Amino acid sequence: MAGVTRADRCPGVLRPHLAQDGAVARIRVPGGQTNGKALGTLSRIAQEFGSGDLQLTSRAGLQLRGLPDPVPTGLIAAVRRVGFLPSDSHERVRNIVASPMTGLSGGVADVRPLVASLDAGLCAKPELAWLPSRFLFAIDDGRGDVSGMPFDLGYRAVDPDHGWLLTGSGDQGLPVAAGTVVEQLLDLAHRFLAASRRSADAWHVRDLSNWIASIPGVRAIDIAHVNAATPLGAIAGAASIRVPLALLTPAQAATVEAFAAGPVVITPSRGLVLLGAARHLSELTAAGLVADPASPWSAISACVGAPFCHSALINTRAYATALARSGSRLPRTHISGCERRCGAPTGDHVDLVAPTTLRLASLVGEAR
Ligand code: SF4
Repeated sequence: MAGVTRADRCPGVLRPHLAQDGAVARIRVPGGQTNGKALGTLSRIAQEFGSGDLQLTSRAGLQLRGLPDPVPTGLIAAVRRVGFLPSDSHERVRNIVASPMTGLSGGVADVRPLVASLDAGLCAKPELAWLPSRFLFAIDDGRGDVSGMPFDLGYRAVDPDHGWLLTGSGDQGLPVAAGTVVEQLLDLAHRFLAASRRSADAWHVRDLSNWIASIPGVRAIDIAHVNAATPLGAIAGAASIRVPLALLTPAQAATVEAFAAGPVVITPSRGLVLLGAARHLSELTAAGLVADPASPWSAISACVGAPFCHSALINTRAYATALARSGSRLPRTHISGCERRCGAPTGDHVDLVAPTTLRLASLVGEAR
Protein backbone atom coordinates (compact mmCIF):
# COMPACT_ATOMS: atom_id res chain seq x y z
CA MET A 1 0.00 0.00 0.00
CA ALA A 2 1.28 3.43 -0.89
CA GLY A 3 2.64 5.69 1.82
CA VAL A 4 -0.31 8.03 2.38
CA THR A 5 0.37 9.59 5.76
CA ARG A 6 -1.74 12.15 7.60
CA ALA A 7 -2.65 15.01 5.22
CA ASP A 8 0.12 14.05 2.81
CA ARG A 9 -1.17 15.47 -0.45
CA CYS A 10 1.89 15.51 -2.72
CA PRO A 11 0.68 14.08 -6.00
CA GLY A 12 1.92 11.09 -7.93
CA VAL A 13 0.77 9.27 -11.03
CA LEU A 14 -1.45 6.90 -9.07
CA ARG A 15 -2.75 9.67 -6.81
CA PRO A 16 -2.89 12.90 -8.87
CA HIS A 17 -3.73 16.36 -7.59
CA LEU A 18 -6.78 18.15 -8.98
CA ALA A 19 -5.84 21.67 -10.11
CA GLN A 20 -7.87 24.32 -11.90
CA ASP A 21 -6.70 22.99 -15.27
CA GLY A 22 -7.43 19.34 -14.50
CA ALA A 23 -5.53 16.55 -12.80
CA VAL A 24 -1.76 16.88 -12.30
CA ALA A 25 0.43 13.76 -12.20
CA ARG A 26 3.90 14.14 -10.71
CA ILE A 27 6.65 11.80 -11.82
CA ARG A 28 9.74 11.29 -9.68
CA VAL A 29 13.05 11.10 -11.57
CA PRO A 30 15.77 10.27 -9.01
CA GLY A 31 18.80 12.47 -9.58
CA GLY A 32 17.00 13.90 -12.63
CA GLN A 33 18.62 11.07 -14.61
CA THR A 34 16.72 10.12 -17.77
CA ASN A 35 17.24 10.11 -21.54
CA GLY A 36 15.89 11.79 -24.66
CA LYS A 37 13.80 8.81 -25.81
CA ALA A 38 12.01 8.63 -22.45
CA LEU A 39 11.31 12.39 -22.48
CA GLY A 40 10.03 12.20 -26.05
CA THR A 41 7.71 9.31 -25.19
CA LEU A 42 6.44 11.09 -22.07
CA SER A 43 5.77 14.20 -24.15
CA ARG A 44 3.62 12.15 -26.50
CA ILE A 45 1.73 10.76 -23.49
CA ALA A 46 1.18 14.36 -22.30
CA GLN A 47 -0.13 15.29 -25.76
CA GLU A 48 -2.48 12.31 -25.89
CA PHE A 49 -3.95 12.73 -22.41
CA GLY A 50 -3.25 16.27 -21.15
CA SER A 51 -2.06 19.78 -21.95
CA GLY A 52 0.87 18.51 -24.03
CA ASP A 53 3.63 20.22 -22.04
CA LEU A 54 6.03 18.54 -19.61
CA GLN A 55 6.48 20.67 -16.50
CA LEU A 56 9.90 20.50 -14.81
CA THR A 57 9.90 20.69 -11.00
CA SER A 58 12.39 22.12 -8.51
CA ARG A 59 13.19 18.56 -7.41
CA ALA A 60 14.26 17.64 -10.95
CA GLY A 61 11.04 15.77 -11.60
CA LEU A 62 8.27 16.09 -14.19
CA GLN A 63 4.56 16.83 -14.15
CA LEU A 64 1.80 16.13 -16.63
CA ARG A 65 -1.04 18.70 -16.41
CA GLY A 66 -4.54 19.17 -17.72
CA LEU A 67 -5.38 15.48 -17.35
CA PRO A 68 -8.88 14.02 -17.02
CA ASP A 69 -10.11 13.21 -13.52
CA PRO A 70 -9.92 10.35 -12.84
CA VAL A 71 -6.67 9.80 -14.69
CA PRO A 72 -7.18 7.20 -17.45
CA THR A 73 -5.70 3.77 -16.83
CA GLY A 74 -4.15 4.02 -20.29
CA LEU A 75 -2.01 6.95 -19.13
CA ILE A 76 -0.80 5.03 -16.07
CA ALA A 77 0.05 2.02 -18.24
CA ALA A 78 1.91 4.24 -20.72
CA VAL A 79 3.95 5.96 -17.95
CA ARG A 80 4.76 2.53 -16.53
CA ARG A 81 5.89 1.24 -19.94
CA VAL A 82 8.34 4.10 -20.42
CA GLY A 83 9.96 3.26 -17.05
CA PHE A 84 8.85 6.23 -14.95
CA LEU A 85 6.77 4.14 -12.53
CA PRO A 86 8.99 1.30 -11.32
CA SER A 87 7.22 0.97 -7.96
CA ASP A 88 3.53 1.55 -7.26
CA SER A 89 4.03 1.47 -3.48
CA HIS A 90 7.02 3.84 -3.42
CA GLU A 91 6.30 6.17 -6.33
CA ARG A 92 5.79 9.29 -4.15
CA VAL A 93 8.81 8.73 -1.88
CA ARG A 94 11.47 8.33 -4.61
CA ASN A 95 12.52 11.93 -3.97
CA ILE A 96 16.26 12.17 -4.64
CA VAL A 97 18.07 15.25 -5.98
CA ALA A 98 21.70 15.11 -7.01
CA SER A 99 24.34 17.39 -8.51
CA PRO A 100 23.20 17.55 -12.16
CA MET A 101 26.70 17.75 -13.62
CA THR A 102 28.06 14.83 -11.60
CA GLY A 103 30.37 12.54 -13.54
CA LEU A 104 30.48 15.06 -16.36
CA SER A 105 32.29 18.13 -15.10
CA GLY A 106 33.45 19.30 -11.67
CA GLY A 107 32.73 17.72 -8.31
CA VAL A 108 34.99 15.25 -6.53
CA ALA A 109 33.01 12.08 -7.19
CA ASP A 110 30.50 10.63 -9.64
CA VAL A 111 27.45 10.11 -7.44
CA ARG A 112 25.18 8.61 -10.11
CA PRO A 113 25.76 5.03 -8.85
CA LEU A 114 24.85 6.20 -5.32
CA VAL A 115 21.59 7.70 -6.61
CA ALA A 116 20.67 4.46 -8.41
CA SER A 117 21.59 2.37 -5.37
CA LEU A 118 19.64 4.62 -2.98
CA ASP A 119 16.56 4.48 -5.22
CA ALA A 120 16.74 0.69 -5.47
CA GLY A 121 17.29 0.35 -1.70
CA LEU A 122 14.40 2.68 -0.93
CA CYS A 123 12.00 0.75 -3.16
CA ALA A 124 13.13 -2.56 -1.63
CA LYS A 125 12.06 -1.55 1.89
CA PRO A 126 8.27 -1.88 2.21
CA GLU A 127 8.04 0.21 5.37
CA LEU A 128 9.77 3.20 3.71
CA ALA A 129 6.73 3.61 1.48
CA TRP A 130 5.31 5.38 4.56
CA LEU A 131 7.85 8.20 4.49
CA PRO A 132 6.19 11.59 3.95
CA SER A 133 6.13 12.28 0.22
CA ARG A 134 7.79 15.66 0.96
CA PHE A 135 10.83 13.81 2.38
CA LEU A 136 13.89 14.54 0.22
CA PHE A 137 17.32 12.93 -0.14
CA ALA A 138 20.11 15.16 -1.54
CA ILE A 139 23.28 13.62 -2.99
CA ASP A 140 26.01 16.21 -3.62
CA ASP A 141 29.16 15.32 -5.53
CA GLY A 142 31.26 17.78 -3.54
CA ARG A 143 30.57 21.01 -5.42
CA GLY A 144 27.89 22.12 -2.93
CA ASP A 145 25.09 22.77 -5.43
CA VAL A 146 22.44 20.59 -3.79
CA SER A 147 23.77 20.34 -0.21
CA GLY A 148 22.50 23.91 0.37
CA MET A 149 18.92 23.05 -0.60
CA PRO A 150 16.31 22.24 2.04
CA PHE A 151 16.36 18.43 2.36
CA ASP A 152 15.99 15.68 4.95
CA LEU A 153 18.92 13.30 4.61
CA GLY A 154 21.89 13.71 2.32
CA TYR A 155 25.46 13.03 1.35
CA ARG A 156 28.21 15.48 0.49
CA ALA A 157 31.27 13.89 -1.10
CA VAL A 158 34.68 15.02 0.16
CA ASP A 159 36.63 12.67 -2.11
CA PRO A 160 35.61 9.66 -4.23
CA ASP A 161 35.49 7.36 -1.19
CA HIS A 162 34.39 9.55 1.71
CA GLY A 163 32.04 12.33 2.63
CA TRP A 164 29.52 13.70 5.09
CA LEU A 165 26.24 12.04 5.87
CA LEU A 166 23.97 15.09 6.30
CA THR A 167 21.07 15.17 8.73
CA GLY A 168 18.35 17.76 8.21
CA SER A 169 20.57 20.35 6.52
CA GLY A 170 23.97 20.80 4.95
CA ASP A 171 25.36 22.13 8.21
CA GLN A 172 25.20 19.04 10.40
CA GLY A 173 26.18 15.45 9.95
CA LEU A 174 28.84 12.84 10.47
CA PRO A 175 31.74 11.45 8.45
CA VAL A 176 30.89 8.41 6.36
CA ALA A 177 32.52 6.08 3.83
CA ALA A 178 30.90 6.28 0.39
CA GLY A 179 30.61 2.48 0.39
CA THR A 180 28.25 2.49 3.38
CA VAL A 181 26.32 5.72 2.88
CA VAL A 182 23.27 4.20 1.17
CA GLU A 183 22.81 1.67 3.94
CA GLN A 184 23.17 4.39 6.56
CA LEU A 185 20.77 6.76 4.81
CA LEU A 186 18.13 4.03 4.63
CA ASP A 187 18.69 3.12 8.28
CA LEU A 188 18.26 6.77 9.30
CA ALA A 189 15.12 7.03 7.16
CA HIS A 190 13.66 4.07 9.09
CA ARG A 191 14.58 5.69 12.38
CA PHE A 192 13.10 9.04 11.30
CA LEU A 193 9.86 7.27 10.42
CA ALA A 194 9.64 5.74 13.88
CA ALA A 195 10.45 9.07 15.58
CA SER A 196 8.05 11.07 13.39
CA ARG A 197 5.13 8.82 14.36
CA ARG A 198 5.41 10.23 17.86
CA SER A 199 4.95 13.78 16.54
CA ALA A 200 1.87 14.73 14.51
CA ASP A 201 3.64 17.70 12.91
CA ALA A 202 6.93 16.13 11.87
CA TRP A 203 7.16 16.05 8.12
CA HIS A 204 10.89 16.65 7.93
CA VAL A 205 14.06 15.66 9.75
CA ARG A 206 14.58 19.33 10.66
CA ASP A 207 11.29 19.19 12.60
CA LEU A 208 12.89 16.71 15.03
CA SER A 209 15.94 18.53 16.40
CA ASN A 210 16.11 16.33 19.50
CA TRP A 211 16.11 13.24 17.32
CA ILE A 212 18.92 14.66 15.18
CA ALA A 213 20.94 15.39 18.30
CA SER A 214 20.46 11.78 19.44
CA ILE A 215 22.14 10.32 16.33
CA PRO A 216 25.59 9.11 17.42
CA GLY A 217 28.42 11.18 15.89
CA VAL A 218 26.29 14.02 14.47
CA ARG A 219 27.91 17.41 14.83
CA ALA A 220 27.87 20.87 13.30
CA ILE A 221 30.02 21.02 10.18
CA ASP A 222 31.35 23.99 8.29
CA ILE A 223 31.20 23.46 4.54
CA ALA A 224 30.38 25.96 1.82
CA HIS A 225 27.28 25.61 -0.34
CA VAL A 226 26.92 27.17 -3.76
CA ASN A 227 23.14 27.50 -4.21
CA ALA A 228 23.66 28.41 -7.86
CA ALA A 229 21.70 27.34 -10.89
CA THR A 230 23.32 24.81 -13.21
CA PRO A 231 25.59 26.68 -15.68
CA LEU A 232 24.32 27.03 -19.26
CA GLY A 233 25.91 26.44 -22.65
CA ALA A 234 28.44 23.89 -23.90
CA ILE A 235 30.04 22.10 -20.96
CA ALA A 236 32.31 19.08 -21.34
CA GLY A 237 30.61 18.13 -24.61
CA ALA A 238 27.14 18.48 -23.11
CA ALA A 239 24.42 20.99 -23.96
CA SER A 240 23.06 22.66 -20.81
CA ILE A 241 19.82 24.53 -21.39
CA ARG A 242 17.09 26.23 -19.39
CA VAL A 243 13.40 25.58 -20.16
CA PRO A 244 11.47 28.89 -20.09
CA LEU A 245 8.63 28.80 -17.55
CA ALA A 246 9.66 25.20 -16.82
CA LEU A 247 7.23 24.02 -19.50
CA LEU A 248 8.80 21.79 -22.15
CA THR A 249 6.54 22.09 -25.17
CA PRO A 250 5.90 19.20 -27.57
CA ALA A 251 8.18 20.80 -30.19
CA GLN A 252 10.96 21.31 -27.65
CA ALA A 253 10.64 17.74 -26.38
CA ALA A 254 10.87 16.47 -29.97
CA THR A 255 14.04 18.53 -30.49
CA VAL A 256 15.57 17.17 -27.28
CA GLU A 257 14.71 13.63 -28.32
CA ALA A 258 16.21 14.18 -31.79
CA PHE A 259 19.55 15.53 -30.54
CA ALA A 260 20.11 13.76 -27.21
CA ALA A 261 22.88 11.33 -28.04
CA GLY A 262 23.16 10.00 -24.51
CA PRO A 263 21.65 10.51 -21.07
CA VAL A 264 19.65 13.64 -20.25
CA VAL A 265 19.67 15.17 -16.76
CA ILE A 266 16.77 17.27 -15.45
CA THR A 267 18.16 20.00 -13.19
CA PRO A 268 16.57 21.55 -10.07
CA SER A 269 16.90 24.92 -11.85
CA ARG A 270 14.39 23.66 -14.44
CA GLY A 271 16.86 22.91 -17.15
CA LEU A 272 18.17 19.94 -19.07
CA VAL A 273 21.71 18.72 -19.61
CA LEU A 274 22.06 16.64 -22.77
CA LEU A 275 25.27 14.67 -22.59
CA GLY A 276 27.24 14.65 -25.84
CA ALA A 277 24.95 17.21 -27.50
CA ALA A 278 27.02 20.43 -27.28
CA ARG A 279 27.24 20.62 -31.08
CA HIS A 280 23.45 20.81 -31.25
CA LEU A 281 23.03 23.92 -29.10
CA SER A 282 21.89 25.95 -32.10
CA GLU A 283 19.04 23.52 -32.87
CA LEU A 284 18.01 23.49 -29.20
CA THR A 285 17.99 27.27 -28.91
CA ALA A 286 16.08 27.55 -32.21
CA ALA A 287 13.33 25.57 -30.45
CA GLY A 288 13.15 28.25 -27.74
CA LEU A 289 15.37 26.59 -25.17
CA VAL A 290 17.89 28.87 -23.48
CA ALA A 291 21.65 28.34 -23.49
CA ASP A 292 22.84 31.92 -23.02
CA PRO A 293 23.49 32.86 -19.36
CA ALA A 294 22.82 36.49 -20.34
CA SER A 295 19.27 35.68 -21.50
CA PRO A 296 16.56 37.12 -19.22
CA TRP A 297 15.05 33.62 -19.14
CA SER A 298 18.11 32.37 -17.28
CA ALA A 299 17.12 34.67 -14.39
CA ILE A 300 13.30 34.47 -14.39
CA SER A 301 11.04 31.77 -13.06
CA ALA A 302 7.39 31.64 -12.05
CA CYS A 303 4.96 29.33 -10.35
CA VAL A 304 2.29 27.96 -12.62
CA GLY A 305 -0.18 30.65 -11.50
CA ALA A 306 -3.61 31.48 -12.97
CA PRO A 307 -5.53 30.01 -14.66
CA PHE A 308 -3.95 26.68 -13.66
CA CYS A 309 -3.92 27.06 -9.86
CA HIS A 310 -6.95 27.64 -7.59
CA SER A 311 -4.91 29.93 -5.30
CA ALA A 312 -3.35 32.16 -7.94
CA LEU A 313 -4.16 35.88 -7.91
CA ILE A 314 -2.36 36.62 -11.17
CA ASN A 315 -1.21 35.00 -14.41
CA THR A 316 2.40 34.59 -13.30
CA ARG A 317 3.57 33.28 -16.67
CA ALA A 318 2.27 36.37 -18.45
CA TYR A 319 4.19 38.60 -16.05
CA ALA A 320 7.32 36.49 -16.43
CA THR A 321 7.08 36.61 -20.21
CA ALA A 322 6.60 40.40 -20.19
CA LEU A 323 9.55 40.75 -17.84
CA ALA A 324 11.75 38.62 -20.11
CA ARG A 325 10.67 40.58 -23.20
CA SER A 326 11.40 43.90 -21.48
CA GLY A 327 15.08 43.21 -22.17
CA SER A 328 16.10 44.31 -18.68
CA ARG A 329 19.15 42.82 -17.04
CA LEU A 330 17.63 41.17 -14.03
CA PRO A 331 18.85 39.58 -10.86
CA ARG A 332 17.47 36.09 -10.18
CA THR A 333 13.72 36.71 -9.93
CA HIS A 334 10.79 34.45 -9.05
CA ILE A 335 7.12 35.39 -9.55
CA SER A 336 4.48 33.72 -7.37
CA GLY A 337 0.71 33.88 -7.62
CA CYS A 338 0.29 33.71 -3.84
CA GLU A 339 2.25 33.59 -0.62
CA ARG A 340 3.07 29.88 -0.99
CA ARG A 341 5.86 30.78 -3.46
CA CYS A 342 5.83 27.37 -5.14
CA GLY A 343 9.06 26.59 -6.93
CA ALA A 344 11.00 29.58 -5.59
CA PRO A 345 14.76 29.02 -5.86
CA THR A 346 16.70 28.34 -2.66
CA GLY A 347 19.51 30.82 -3.40
CA ASP A 348 19.39 34.61 -3.31
CA HIS A 349 16.62 35.99 -5.51
CA VAL A 350 14.04 38.75 -5.88
CA ASP A 351 10.67 37.43 -4.77
CA LEU A 352 7.67 39.00 -6.55
CA VAL A 353 4.54 37.73 -4.85
CA ALA A 354 0.92 38.60 -5.76
CA PRO A 355 -0.96 40.67 -4.74
CA THR A 356 2.02 43.01 -4.85
CA THR A 357 0.86 43.66 -8.38
CA LEU A 358 1.64 47.39 -8.25
CA ARG A 359 5.31 46.55 -8.02
CA LEU A 360 4.92 43.94 -10.72
CA ALA A 361 3.04 46.36 -12.93
CA SER A 362 5.73 48.97 -12.56
CA LEU A 363 8.23 46.41 -13.80
CA VAL A 364 6.15 44.99 -16.60
CA GLY A 365 3.61 47.66 -17.42
CA GLU A 366 2.15 45.91 -20.42
CA ALA A 367 1.49 42.60 -18.70
CA ARG A 368 -2.09 41.69 -17.93
S1 SF4 B 1 2.58 29.92 -5.42
FE1 SF4 B 1 0.34 29.97 -5.04
S2 SF4 B 1 -0.51 30.51 -7.03
FE2 SF4 B 1 1.56 29.77 -7.40
S3 SF4 B 1 1.32 27.58 -7.86
FE3 SF4 B 1 1.78 27.80 -5.66
S4 SF4 B 1 -0.26 27.81 -4.69
FE4 SF4 B 1 -0.57 28.25 -6.87
